[in-house]
Amino acid sequence: MNAILQPHQHFNKVDFKPKDYKDEKTPSFWCAGCGHYGVLTGLLRALAELGVDPNHLVSVSGIGCSSRLPYFVNSYKMHTLHGRAGPVATGVHLARPDLAVVVSGGDGDGFSIGGGHVAHAIRRNIDITYIVMDNQIYGLTKGQLSPTSPRGLKTVTSLYGSFEDPINPLMYVLSYGAPFVAQGTPADLPGLAAMIEEGIRYPGFAFINIQSPCVTYGEEEAQIKAQRERMKTLDSVGHDPKNRLKALDLAQSYGTELYTGVFFRDPKPPPTFESQALQRQKELSATARPRERILDLFLQA
Ligand code: SF4
Repeated sequence: MNAILQPHQHFNKVDFKPKDYKDEKTPSFWCAGCGHYGVLTGLLRALAELGVDPNHLVSVSGIGCSSRLPYFVNSYKMHTLHGRAGPVATGVHLARPDLAVVVSGGDGDGFSIGGGHVAHAIRRNIDITYIVMDNQIYGLTKGQLSPTSPRGLKTVTSLYGSFEDPINPLMYVLSYGAPFVAQGTPADLPGLAAMIEEGIRYPGFAFINIQSPCVTYGEEEAQIKAQRERMKTLDSVGHDPKNRLKALDLAQSYGTELYTGVFFRDPKPPPTFESQALQRQKELSATARPRERILDLFLQA
């Protein structure tokens, strides 16, 4: 494999503390007590454990409260279009497969307007880490139903209670074949930091669903205190993360149980899109026309 295909070569390059990965901008935009502060802390801790050089780190996001995350991380950053963080991150990683790329966004960004893109990032197995800060509500636009809102939820757009079933993000990504799938919460920061670190280290598409409460528009049962009482590690139920079918079975309880940890980790990571594209490029380059003769193909046709 081409040496350029190793984002991991930029790990253990710096001896930074989590605070060294903080951007000078502070997340004052977020409401006091928002779960996203915990997600940011978890990410900063994970980056410090990785020792990744910020010059080789790219944070990409869509639109929403959670999509402000890259602003606060010492890295290159792209705050893109609603639901389009995945395609942008795909382009970044194809152009520079040696960089570590972390994508973040909310449940609406990922599974409503961006829902169609997630499946394609998974089937291509782009080597990025996708963090969804799932709070079951649209916070930025002041509390409308999101694709993961539970049935019966009363919001400004569902005054009498929603009669739609939520999308299950865990089953969605598992059934499309994501090779690394985990779920965490800021109610368990050490566990959250460890799974983000593992996701970034994983050589392929890594999906991390984080139950990150919205204190302003979210439900009582979704808040940190309630999560501490409900959460259950997958280790405690004897789950083997090599077993995708068992992972799918456990993922069915999304919305009722709060399992934390790694649902699935493919022990034989499939080839990434980037590695195959570069391999093809290498194979074809031997017989490729010089760039200035490329239009000849069309002239001959
Ligand atoms: Fe967080 Fe909700 Fe406030 Fe947005 S509206 S910053 S999600 S608490």
